[in-house]
Order: sequence, then structure tokens, then C-alpha cells
Amino acid sequence: MAVTNISADLMREALTELSQASYNHEQWAERFHGTLISHGASDPKDICVDAHRNCRFGQWYYGPGLAMLHDHPGFAGIGTEHEQMHRLAANLLRASAAGTPISNEDYESFVAVRKRLNLEIATVHHEFEEELRGLDPLTGTPGRIGMLSKLRDQQEMAARSIQTCVIAMMDLDLFKTVNDRYGHLVGDKVLIDIARHVALHLRAYDKFYRYGGEEFLICLPGTDETAGRGIVNRLRTELADLRHEAAGKEPFQVTVSFGITVLDPAISVEQSIDRADKALYAAKNAGRNCVVAWNKSMDAEAG
Ligand code: GH3
Ligand code: MG
Ligand code: MG
Repeated sequence: MAVTNISADLMREALTELSQASYNHEQWAERFHGTLISHGASDPKDICVDAHRNCRFGQWYYGPGLAMLHDHPGFAGIGTEHEQMHRLAANLLRASAAGTPISNEDYESFVAVRKRLNLEIATVHHEFEEELRGLDPLTGTPGRIGMLSKLRDQQEMAARSIQTCVIAMMDLDLFKTVNDRYGHLVGDKVLIDIARHVALHLRAYDKFYRYGGEEFLICLPGTDETAGRGIVNRLRTELADLRHEAAGKEPFQVTVSFGITVLDPAISVEQSIDRADKALYAAKNAGRNCVVAWNKSMDAEAG
């Protein structure tokens, strides 16, 4: 999944909460088993229909600010298993309190869902850690490590006619003058704000990499050239409208140029990136602040 559009801060917060969730649920499970064995009184929070929302993890999971994470399939899986686990646990606790014998089947269902929950948590944990390791420290965008293998996966899908994928090279216009006029720190902030805007406005499954300097690569799976151009053009206008601030100066805007191409399974991923680069070069020549799609004549021009 595109963890791309989940901010590094949110990923770090999720890692902490997921570790805490594993620990808390281990402790909870110890108490739960104790209650079951002793037929003791249950904590009312554990037997109500909202038990999954009441535990500390549930409060965080269903709390505000996690909309981006809910699009993540692994994270959604955690929610499903967690809710199911609390539901099965509540059934067992009610049966135990009523003195009804607990069937092996019911207990095993509970054990199985607990294992699935732990596996989902460990999987997301691993994925977020991997993702954070590859993040560009300035913008929090994934760096180039891992990019080629992700693009090769997309190319493989295109080769099997499963879906096409558009890649876009994005480069800030006249960025050197921003640094010259406002200083490198302001330039850094512009890069951060632009990268954040793109990450937040892509679809959940799109990917976004800092290719180097003020260049980024966007990968739009399941998209043909027309749709890709539409998505990228919308981004372009939004980015051009962003207002950047510099102390003691008027707010200013920075435009962005894009070169796009469809990942072609007949050539290497690197060659497709080269096509997007040529289209970007054409966009710069066409006056910047525009989107240009690669075409064959660009290869001829490059000699
Ligand atoms: P063009 O429209 O043709 O792309 O013009 P440009 O000025 O953006 O292109 P050029 O390649 O000449 O300059 C890119 C600038 O981006 C130069 C470099 O200092 C700046 N840059 C690259 N990475 C960073 C960074 O991390 N922070 C800051 N502040 N500037 C950066
Ligand atoms: Mg530039
Ligand atoms: Mg550049």
C-alpha cells in the first residue's frame, strides 16, 4: 500500500501506539484468562458492545486524526480483528459469568482472532519501520531506495495487462531563484510544504518519491495517460496556488513542471523514467508550470 501519503509523524505515532497496543492487550489477555478461569466478575468495559472502543488502543484507533491510516489495508485489518477479538472475548466472559461451559470451538475462535490481530499488528509495524527507514529526512517523502522495485511491480502488472501505470517526474520551477531570493532555509520549507501537499492529495494507492534535489517522482497505478494527465494537472494548479512565506517579504508562489509517461513493459523501468525526464525537459522548454506527456519525437530530438 501507499504508505507514501501517510506522514512520517503519523507513522511514528502509529508505531508507538501499535507497540503499546500489543503490550496492553497482552496484559488485558492475562486478566481476561484469570477472570475466565475463576468465573469472576468481568470489567463492565470488557463485556459491553463497545469493548473494542473502550480499550486504550480502541480510543486511539477510533479517535480523530487517523483518517489517512484508515485507508491502509493492514491498518483496516487490525481494526477488524481487534473488534472481533473483543466481541468474542465478551461472549466468553458472559458465558463464564453465567456458569455456562465454554466450548472448545468458541475458545479456539478467540485464540485464532488474537493470533491474526498480532500478525496484522506485526505486519503493519514492519511495513512502517521499513518505510520510515527509507524516508528522505527533509521532506519525509520516501527516497529512491525501494522505488525501482515498486515500479517494477507496476510494470509487471502492465505486462500482464492487469493495469497500466503512469509515472510523472515533477520539478520545481526556477527554484534556484527561490533560494537566492529568500535563503536556503525558506527554500527547504517550500520543498517540505510542496511535498506534503502532494502526499496528502494523492490517492491512497499512489506513490511519491523524492528523486533528488527538487525533483520528485509520482507513480499512479491503474491510470492511463489521460487520467494521469488529469490528476497531475490538478496537482499542478493546486501547487501553483500555494502561498509561501518568508520573514519580512510578501508571500510568494512557486510553480511546478511535470513530465509524464505510461510505464512501458517493453522497455526497462529506468528507460521509462528517462522518457518522463524528457517530457519534463519539454515542459520546461514550453515555458514551465505545465504537464507534458512523452512522445516518440522526444527520443529523436535527444538524438
Ligand atoms: P528549472 O525551472 O529549470 O528547474 O530551474 P531551477 O532553478 O529549479 O533548476 P536548477 O536545477 O538550476 O536548480 C535547482 C535548485 O534546487 C538548485 C539547488 O540548490 C536547489 N535545491 C536542491 N535541493 C535542495 C534542498 O534540499 N533545499 C533547498 N533549499 N534547495 C535545494
Ligand atoms: Mg527546478
Ligand atoms: Mg531540477
